[in-house]
Amino acid sequence: SAIDSAPPVCVLGLGLIGGSLLRAAVRSGRQAWGYNRSSESADAARADGFDADTDLVSVLQRANESGAIIVIAVPMPAVDATLEAIAAHAPDNPITDVVSVKGEVKAAVERAGLSAKFVGGHPMAGTSASGWAVGDADLFVDAVWVVATDNGVDADVWSQVADLALDCGSVVVPAESLEHDRAVARISHLPHLLAETLAITGAAGGELALGLAAGSFRDGTRVAGSAPGLVRAMCEGNRDALLVALDEALDLLQGARTDLLDNGSTARLVDAGFAARGAYESH
Ligand code: NAD
Repeated sequence: SAIDSAPPVCVLGLGLIGGSLLRAAVRSGRQAWGYNRSSESADAARADGFDADTDLVSVLQRANESGAIIVIAVPMPAVDATLEAIAAHAPDNPITDVVSVKGEVKAAVERAGLSAKFVGGHPMAGTSASGWAVGDADLFVDAVWVVATDNGVDADVWSQVADLALDCGSVVVPAESLEHDRAVARISHLPHLLAETLAITGAAGGELALGLAAGSFRDGTRVAGSAPGLVRAMCEGNRDALLVALDEALDLLQGARTDLLDNGSTARLVDAGFAARGAYESH
């Protein structure tokens, strides 16, 4: 996008995702500043040369005066309070978010009366680490960034959100909030619950099991190292879609158990899994 026409960016929450976004927006040539509740991350951001503050009202007033695009980058449980502040101090600004569930944020935006200039987003990038210090301007490079195409979204705001994602180096994937939530229940939230399960059953094997665990166990349990608060917020915020995916997984495991018990075979699950993995690899 043309740098001289790109609006400034106001990032609320300077953790892994918001901190990476502030860095990437500045690197792309945009004017950008951020808010963080704790002075720890705001101080760290300032020490790294970025414009960061712990005063939400003044940060939002500045957004209001400059027409900045506001990016909500706090965990789901903090979204309602953040929207209330936006409604009070910058109600006419374009708004997006980076939260991992889209339906729940959309409902919160409607409750706050801010739907007119809101377009949801989800950069599909991250690690299990958190906080300003682990942020990286390159985090979003070549990552998929979902930009919501729900009925009634403002076309200009949609383009502004997509431009921001492109400026961060991402590939924009348009999707409706509901479709997004159904998809991420399958490729992110269910895998989180399965990783927790694997970590628990592995650790229950005691010293020997942990000593023998190598690469594949590490891969399968990696996301179990994510902050429990964020995992819970994702899973609980996507309840309906996650229940559907969880039922399918339980049926598959139950089927494998029945096959193994009745005829000593795991072929049904293993063959189907191998074929499904092949489809994923060739996508
Ligand atoms: P993080 O813990 O690194 O950062 C969270 C930020 O929110 C911190 O700056 C924290 O100070 C702030 N915060 C927490 N509670 C708050 C409250 N009550 N009021 C105000 N601020 C508060 O987490 P993160 O990984 O950057 O996650 C931020 C958002 O990004 C979440 O909504 C998450 O769903 C989403 N997200 C995360 C990932 C990932 O892999 N970590 C990927 C994509 C999207």
